[in-house]
Amino acid sequence: MPITINTLIRQALHLVYPNACLCCHELLMDNESVICNRCYEGFDHFALPGESQGHIMDTLKKNFPGDSSIDQAISCYKFHKKSHLSLVIHAVKYDGFQVLALDLGARLGRHIRKEMPQANFSTVIPIPLHPVKKIERTYNQAELLGSGVSDCLAIQMNTTVLHRIKHTGSQTSFVASERKENLLNAFYCNQRLDEQSVLLVDDVFTTGATMISAAKVLKKAGAFNVTVATLAVADS
Ligand SMILES: [Zn+2]
Repeated sequence: MPITINTLIRQALHLVYPNACLCCHELLMDNESVICNRCYEGFDHFALPGESQGHIMDTLKKNFPGDSSIDQAISCYKFHKKSHLSLVIHAVKYDGFQVLALDLGARLGRHIRKEMPQANFSTVIPIPLHPVKKIERTYNQAELLGSGVSDCLAIQMNTTVLHRIKHTGSQTSFVASERKENLLNAFYCNQRLDEQSVLLVDDVFTTGATMISAAKVLKKAGAFNVTVATLAVADS
């Protein structure tokens, strides 16, 4: 993703006014960081218990009928284009707001604890970037989110087991079937995960192609349960 003028302006503004909310530019209170509480509350939450799981599982059923690689799913927010949340996710992904990613990960962790109090996850695994992409971007936003989740839930994160071996490029212009094809054999596991219950973390759930592709190899490596956890779910 090229650095745009908007990106540069936003970064510069935040450097000059670190105490202003990234979304509404109002001054932050002492207990707020990067985004004010009012803007957080303005994000489109999945408010009902099980609502995000229903939404994600329905999308998976529609796009990948008969596939049972993913057992459970959870997400915090509904993603809408040109919303404050889309600005925030872009800032986390491309503009280097790493502290914000950790904070959002912690929010996702608290949401998981509230909605799935009985869950007993063995490990948190973030969706990896291809090594070339990681060099370009310098960090993996899913790993930062995963770190926030891991700290919040006191579950170890494993960033060495799952690898991306295919440089798939941007998926955004593909329909579900093309994404599925493009992501075939995109991941591999270099360790066994026998009897482990995996919490697979990414920023946005779109068609499910990335998650299914990763979940398949986790299951093949022995994981008995794969739960996907994303910050947001895009309109499908
Ligand atoms: Zn705000």
